[in-house]
Amino acid sequence: MRRALTAEEIHSIIMANLTSEEIAAMTEEFCAHNYKPLPVALVSGDGVWLWDPEGRKYMDMMSCYSAVSVGHLHPRIVQATFEQMSKIANCSRAYYNEPLAKLGHIFTALCGMESILPMNSGAEAVETAIKLARKWGYTKKHVPDGKAEIIVCSGNFHGRTTTVISFSSEEQYKKNFGPLTPGFRFVPCGDADALESVLTEHKNVVAFLFEPIQGEAGIIVPPAGYLAKVRELCTRHNVLMIADEIQTGFCRTGKMFACQHENAHPDIYIFGKALGGGVMPISAIATSKAIMDVFRPGDHGSTFGGNPLACAVACTAIEIMVNEGLEKNSAELGVYLMERLRALNSPYIKEIRGKGLLIGLELTKASGGARRFCEALAKNGVLSKETHDYVIRFAPPLTITKEEIDWALEKIAYVFENIDRIS
Ligand SMILES: *Cc1c(COP(=O)(O)O)cnc(C)c1O
Repeated sequence: MRRALTAEEIHSIIMANLTSEEIAAMTEEFCAHNYKPLPVALVSGDGVWLWDPEGRKYMDMMSCYSAVSVGHLHPRIVQATFEQMSKIANCSRAYYNEPLAKLGHIFTALCGMESILPMNSGAEAVETAIKLARKWGYTKKHVPDGKAEIIVCSGNFHGRTTTVISFSSEEQYKKNFGPLTPGFRFVPCGDADALESVLTEHKNVVAFLFEPIQGEAGIIVPPAGYLAKVRELCTRHNVLMIADEIQTGFCRTGKMFACQHENAHPDIYIFGKALGGGVMPISAIATSKAIMDVFRPGDHGSTFGGNPLACAVACTAIEIMVNEGLEKNSAELGVYLMERLRALNSPYIKEIRGKGLLIGLELTKASGGARRFCEALAKNGVLSKETHDYVIRFAPPLTITKEEIDWALEKIAYVFENIDRIS
């Protein structure tokens, strides 16, 4: 067995300036291999820009899967973090705290709901919505005990906890992780008729859980009218419409929330990622008082959920989104970026799709797959990431300017023109 390190040894490791290679090697040596990172190590960031230890500059076209929508280390976020850090960071929900009270006030008004329940990660917020929907089903809809069902979409991504992967349609996410949690039924993504027939046939359904645009599945946009139809069907069948806006929320798709593209107000919203201003893990569900009040003290909770530091940062993240017009910027520059990507005219591009600054570029099978493109893009200063084998995702911070997008487009064009020579 290895001996524990002395305080001096720990200190010297903390103080060392590692090279990119050293960072990668140390990570692979001591940390789980549950990710396959691109060969890039990042040590600092500012707005849309990131730097590695060797001083190479990259544009972030990934935004930490949309968590960094206000850009890296936004000055207002940094200020709010330090201000809160000079008061109190954590006190648990055993007591009241001021930033949580304020976040509740600001956030419910923003999303047209009456009550929020904060957690830490997206998956936890999804779990929270599932528990709430089930208890609502038993106590309000009078579904027989243990029989509640939730409808989900094929190709969904809602996180990585045991219950959430139980209703993934991705084999790898589930295989060898059973026994899985029962109580879920699938419908094809974007198919309102299929949803209607399942709702008509199965009376113990308590909720329909979906992403307004499927993110991890490869930026899958449902047909126009789908969200409005989902709203209508859920109302008619007395089923909770639960929109997972963890990735699509907070201006990512050109509206504050993606459901607003069709004025489809869900019963429960699920948020995460960008809510933390790119610096804190915080997630939440938002709903009506009638639904939220199904939870009684002791039913649910989290040690760090709703902590003052995360809530103070979240309040400021919302302020920035409203103050800087990120909804409009995302809508306008999203159209621009998609147009310019379409104009690339590469034989390797099958489709460009998305809304706002949530854009997927699907490659043809002949392209050799998205990984080599993402590696070549990274070498040329544009950070993206493949989702599945053939889709490259472009989701820069929503604070990006047209000039910055043009900078990235030049590199992207170079990579697409020269891919067979440079990779
Ligand atoms: C990222 C994501 C999640 C999971 O969030 P974590 O914070 O990684 O647990 C859930 N749903 C959607 C739509 C997501 O994009």
